[in-house]
Amino acid sequence: MTYRTVNPYTNELIKEYPFATDRDLERALSDSYSLYKKMKTQNLSERASILHNIAKYFRDHEDELGKICTVDMGKLFIESKGEVELCAIIADYFADHAGEFLKPEKIDTIATGEAEIQKHATGVIMMVEPWNFPYYQIMRVFAPNFMVGNPMILKDPSNTPASAQAFADAILAAGAPKGALTNLFLQYDQVTKAIEDFRVQGVALTGSERGGRSVAEAAGKNLKKSTMELGGVDPFIILEDANVEDVNNIAWRARLYNCGQVCTSSKRFIVSDKLYDQFVKKLIENFNKVKPGDPMDPATTLAPMNTEKAKNKLQSQLDDAIAHGAKVVYGNKRIDLPGQFFMPTILTNIDKNNPAYHEEMFGPIAQVYKVNSEQEAIDLANDSDLGLGGIVFGGDADHAAEVASQIETGMVFVNNFMSSLPELPFGGVKNSGYGREMSKIGQMAFVNEQLIVKANHPNLDNIAGGLVSIGPK
Ligand code: NAP
Repeated sequence: MTYRTVNPYTNELIKEYPFATDRDLERALSDSYSLYKKMKTQNLSERASILHNIAKYFRDHEDELGKICTVDMGKLFIESKGEVELCAIIADYFADHAGEFLKPEKIDTIATGEAEIQKHATGVIMMVEPWNFPYYQIMRVFAPNFMVGNPMILKDPSNTPASAQAFADAILAAGAPKGALTNLFLQYDQVTKAIEDFRVQGVALTGSERGGRSVAEAAGKNLKKSTMELGGVDPFIILEDANVEDVNNIAWRARLYNCGQVCTSSKRFIVSDKLYDQFVKKLIENFNKVKPGDPMDPATTLAPMNTEKAKNKLQSQLDDAIAHGAKVVYGNKRIDLPGQFFMPTILTNIDKNNPAYHEEMFGPIAQVYKVNSEQEAIDLANDSDLGLGGIVFGGDADHAAEVASQIETGMVFVNNFMSSLPELPFGGVKNSGYGREMSKIGQMAFVNEQLIVKANHPNLDNIAGGLVSIGPK
C-alpha cells in the first residue's frame, strides 16, 4: 500500500506521499489531546462560528476542491462540486444545531436532588474513511465531533490523499485550531496503535466489511466505542402500481451516480412481473445514453472508476456471475478509452447459488430480479447479510411506506432517489455496520452522556430497600 494519486482518467501518476512516522502519530495524539482539554472549557458558540467559516471556505473554493477530488478518484466534476456544497451544508447544520443537541437534559427522578444528563466530549477520535466521497465522508464525522469537542485523527484512503489533505488544510485555513483534525498517511498497524492509545476514545470507520471487521476488532479489543458504516446491496423495489415514468427517471441514476460506487447505490432492482419487461427495456435505453469521457467535461455523464484495481475486481465479479448463469442483457464490453472506464452492465437470471446474489458489486452493474408478489419482493430484499438502504416505488405512497418498514435496512426512501442530508440519520444494520452518522443520533456517537445528580444534603429517608442506598444511615 502506498498513498498516491493516479488520475483514473489519464492513468497519470500525479503525486506520491510518504507514510507518516510513529513520531508524526505521537505528535498528532499529543496535539489533539491538548486541544481536547482546551475545548472542554470553550464556549460552543466559538466552535459554531469556526464551523460556519469552514462551510464558507468550502463554498468559496468549490472549483478548486472539486478538481482535486475529480483528479484523485475520477468522479464527474459536477458531482465533486455537489459534494463540496454538501460538506458546506453539513458544516452549517451542525454549527446551527449542535447547541440544541448538546444541551443538558433534566430527568424526573425520585432521587434526592436535581438530575440531569450533561453531554461532554470523550477524547480523540480515530477516523478511517473511504475514497468514494473523499470530502463528504470526512465531514460527516468532523462537523458533529468538532462541535462536541472531540479532536480527530484521520487515516485517509491510500488513493485519495490529495483530497484528504485538502480537507485538513481547508479547515485550518478557515480557522480551526491545530489538532482539530490531523490527516496522517498511516499504515494499518499505526491505526491499531492509535486505537490502543488512552487518548483515543472513539473509532469511526466507513468502508468495506473487510476493513470494518479489522478496525472494529481493534476497537473492541481496546474497549473503544466505534461506529461502522459499511457496504450495501440496496434493493430498489418496484411495486405493480408504481408510476413507471418516475421509476424510469430515477432507476438508472440510482445505479450510475458516482459511476455506481456508492454504498447506497441501488444494486438490486426487484420488479413486479407486471412491469418487468418494460422496466428492463427502459433501463437498457437509459444505460445506453450515458457518455463516457473526461470527467471535467460537462458533457460527460459516465466517469471512470476510481482505480484499475477496483475495475479489475468488478470485472472478475462480473465474469464469475456470468459463469454461474447470470444473463447479460446489456453491457460487458470494453470502452475504448485509456482511463478506468467500465461499461454500465445489466444482469438478470441471478439465482441464489450465484456469488453475485450475495456480494456487493461496487461499480456500474445493475442486477434485475422478477418477482410475482409483494411478499416475494420483501423476502428477496431481506435475503442478504447486508442491510444499508433501499428504495420502494409504489402508486400509493402510504402502502409503499408500509412495505419499506418491512425491509431490514437502516434507511428506505419511498418514491424518490436516496439522498443524504445532515438532518437525516445515515447507517445500516446487519453486516452494513452499526451506529449512525449525521442528525442528532450521529451527534451523540462519541458523547459522554454524564449523569449529574445535585443535592444540597443527602436525604436519608429516601432509600428504597437499599437499592438506591446513598451512604451510611
Ligand atoms: P476499504 O478498503 O475498507 O477502505 C476504507 C478505509 O479503510 C480506507 O481508508 C482504507 O485504507 C482503510 N482500511 C482498510 N482496511 C484497514 C485496516 N485493516 N486497518 C486500517 N484501515 C483500513 O473500503 P473501500 O473499498 O475503500 O470503500 C468502499 C466500501 O465502503 C464499499 O463497501 C462501500 O459500500 C462502503 N461505504 C460505506 C458507506 C456507508 O456510509 N455505509 C459510505 C461509503 C462507502 P487504504 O485505502 O489504505 O486501504
